[in-house]
Amino acid sequence: MSARAFVVGSGPNGLAAAIELARAGFRVTVLEGAAGIGGGCRSSGRLVPGMIHDDCAAVHPLFAASPFFRTLELDVELVHPEIPLAHPLPGGDAAVLYRGLDATAAGLGREGRRWRALFAPLVRYPDRIADLTLTPVPGSLARHTVLGPRFGVRGLPPTTVVGGFLGGETPAAALFAGLSAHAFNRLDRPLTSAVGLMMGFTAQTWGWPVVAGGSGRLTAALADYVREFNGTIRTGVTVRRLSDLVGFGYRGASAGDVVVLTTTPGHAAAVLAGNQPVRRRRAYRRFRHGAAAFRVDLAVRGGIPWLNPDARRAGTLHLGGTAGEIAAAERATSSGRAAGKPFVLVGQQYLADPSRSVRVDGEWLHPVWTYAHVPAGYRGDATEQVISRIAEYAPGVRDRIVGVSARSVAELEAYNPNYVGGDVAGGANSPGQLVARPVVRQPYDTGVNGVFLGSASTPPGGGVHGMSGFAAARRAARWAGKL
Ligand SMILES: Cc1cc2nc3c(=O)[nH]c(=O)nc-3n(C[C@H](O)[C@H](O)[C@H](O)COP(=O)(O)OP(=O)(O)OC[C@H]3O[C@@H](n4cnc5c(N)ncnc54)[C@H](O)[C@@H]3O)c2cc1C
Repeated sequence: MSARAFVVGSGPNGLAAAIELARAGFRVTVLEGAAGIGGGCRSSGRLVPGMIHDDCAAVHPLFAASPFFRTLELDVELVHPEIPLAHPLPGGDAAVLYRGLDATAAGLGREGRRWRALFAPLVRYPDRIADLTLTPVPGSLARHTVLGPRFGVRGLPPTTVVGGFLGGETPAAALFAGLSAHAFNRLDRPLTSAVGLMMGFTAQTWGWPVVAGGSGRLTAALADYVREFNGTIRTGVTVRRLSDLVGFGYRGASAGDVVVLTTTPGHAAAVLAGNQPVRRRRAYRRFRHGAAAFRVDLAVRGGIPWLNPDARRAGTLHLGGTAGEIAAAERATSSGRAAGKPFVLVGQQYLADPSRSVRVDGEWLHPVWTYAHVPAGYRGDATEQVISRIAEYAPGVRDRIVGVSARSVAELEAYNPNYVGGDVAGGANSPGQLVARPVVRQPYDTGVNGVFLGSASTPPGGGVHGMSGFAAARRAARWAGKL
């Protein structure tokens, strides 16, 4: 009888694991606690009927870069806004990130030359850099003897140091600080630049595309792939103990069955109920979650009236002001204090994908997707702060907002238990946890025979790339002697 594989969670990593396990010859069952599949990659029309909002992940450079997803023929269309990213600045200016290093550098004035020096070696070898940063196999750095050190020397310093190289309080430094803020960490911490480099490198190489019809189409296509391999996906099933799987046909490690959990380490430790070796259980329980996202969706008549014309053409906007202001806001949120003016991300996916907007009484209503960085476990309501931030760069926006839907930190965690305290990155991106995620050696092994961990809490970390699930599935297949 063929060996069986059970995947807990149907986010991008769970579905990637399911596909890889099916390819290795397992009979696969995916068990998902929520009513629908997709985890952090779903869409809905919860604000205005017919209008499509992404619930979580919105922009998909990591999908485009993913060495695993690129091997699949998925029925998914990626569409691009004219400009991937604009970073509005006081006085109606903006720093702009184009899909192309030359164009970006040309727009950054005197700092353009330094911007080019920072990104040129990465942009020149895109596939190798994607392989280096997203393929988390031991020795990956060693395989890239030239590019590894080049990426390392740029990614190791704190963002504030790279900001100094980019001129301090310049548009280029602000642009880089906004990219690094995706780390949800203090920007004076080592390795935050690696996040900024990765975000900037993908945008200048592959752009920041969105999925036509909404991000949910992407996980729907992955689920179709699982079903083509005769895999089964069951929703509304929360796995609390390993023994819960028995009802779905799990026969245990002795029968060669494998399990890939795409939960947080804390939840995995609970599922494994004390059966892990002590050191690993401790590491799972000690795993830290980072600052949170406060989500706000808007329906905006005619779109946001940004002062800056490039901002009106940009798929994503970073609202945080200068490099110093962003660093101060990120320092506050990472230390558990709400920033007076938090860092806010805005997504205008409808620019690339007009099918997301609706026409009501002869006027176009556009979906605008936003979130603010807030402290872990934040109990307040950041809706007004998000709107004020937008109004700073787009006076008059308030008159155009016809619908608001906020998802607090507690609601976000209820929506997806992997978002502990509102952490959307799968765990704090502290220097320690960028290396030990959740442990240094064999990060996908739970220490329980035949059971593996493959969520965003394992390398290479957060994002819709499927590489954590893929790597955990490979490890499981190897354990079962199928590779
Ligand atoms: C607001 C927000 C914006 C984001 N923006 C982007 C973006 O623009 N681009 C990008 O690349 N990434 C983005 N991300 C991050 C991205 O969504 C995640 O990194 C990614 O979804 C992680 O995939 P995963 O499969 O590890 O986990 P998830 O996608 O979180 O999936 C885990 C699944 O497991 C299920 N589950 C958990 N525990 C159990 C259990 N015990 N039993 C059964 N089921 C269980 C959950 O219900 C969930 O469906 C964003 C995330 C958020 C929240």
